Amino acid sequence: MTDVTIRPAGRRGRPPAHWADLEAQEQLSLITDLGWPKFRARQVDRHYNQFSATPQGWTDLPAAERERLSGHFPELLTPIRTRSADSGATRKHVWQLHDGSLVESVVMGYPDRATACISSQAGCGMACPFCATGQEGLTRNLSAAEIIEQARLAHLEAADLGLGKGRLSNVVFMGMGEPLANYRAVMRAVRRIVSGFGISARSVTVSTVGLVPGIRRLAEEGLPVTLAVSLHAPDDELRDTLVPVNQRFPVAEVMAAADDYVVATGRRYSIEYALIKDINDQPERARMLADLLSGRIAHVNLIPLNPTPGSVWTATSAQRTEQFIRILRDGGVSTTLRDTRGSDIDGACGQLAAETA
Ligand code: SAH
Repeated sequence: MTDVTIRPAGRRGRPPAHWADLEAQEQLSLITDLGWPKFRARQVDRHYNQFSATPQGWTDLPAAERERLSGHFPELLTPIRTRSADSGATRKHVWQLHDGSLVESVVMGYPDRATACISSQAGCGMACPFCATGQEGLTRNLSAAEIIEQARLAHLEAADLGLGKGRLSNVVFMGMGEPLANYRAVMRAVRRIVSGFGISARSVTVSTVGLVPGIRRLAEEGLPVTLAVSLHAPDDELRDTLVPVNQRFPVAEVMAAADDYVVATGRRYSIEYALIKDINDQPERARMLADLLSGRIAHVNLIPLNPTPGSVWTATSAQRTEQFIRILRDGGVSTTLRDTRGSDIDGACGQLAAETA
């Protein structure tokens, strides 16, 4: 059962122009065109960053000026549905975009932090067979402002509900989409999240299937964001099937780019590895992975596979998981097992398919 009316997805035009999509120079000209002094640009930016939803709430600006600005702050994300889990500490949102596309974001509260997991694309073109988003294909890239709004709304929510320490502390690009395939918009969003929202670059994680040119470009940004590489297999033979883009950027090239990222940023990277029963969880694969990572500045995040509709694959048993962890640690590889927040509301990794049933 669908509980919303979805507009036909025929028109895939650009989202309405939003202040947050503009270059600093364009913001300045807009302010000048309105006949205002240039400092207004910074003021407007600050108001937006400080999480006032729309100009209507910026009461230190004269009402007429707020009115003139409002067209530059259109509502980009229409809330469709929110579900919560973990006694309210995990909240998954489905948003409708101007063209009817649906995207999702998740906010997770922990005692010491609050993390937003946000989407960079509507759908995803990477076609990883175990990921729900990968099954639907790519609809379109999100604009910078559509990405930023997810983080901004997550911050409001963290403050409202007292999640974490009452403020958003971490942002992970682990929602729908491949962030490095929407590079410009993602970087504009990262910049605002860091300099505008006051979240440290190292608390922002960009997770990628391993688009080598994107990793190399990211290394040159001078922003030490955390890089996560979704590896899922240490060998090309298996990875070609689990992460199809491996056929273009094989394991060795991805690892070399990640190593160079360490040199450029001083940041260790994460290796994401979803444990799939009898597919990539064998002890010999753990040993191959340990060998691959030996001497590298990497941390392994094992993710129990989350079930996705229609998939024949299941999660590795607890015992096998323990064994996998032991082999990696014995091999000197720093390893943790990710908790699967939100799996009962399809809000966990790989389950974000924007279903509204
Ligand atoms: N496209 C990016 C970011 C989105 S996915 C990437 O691939 O990194 C975020 C993480 O969830 C990735 O590591 C992805 O491989 C993992 N994931 C996808 N489907 C999953 C599933 N069914 N169970 C567990 N993890 C999954």
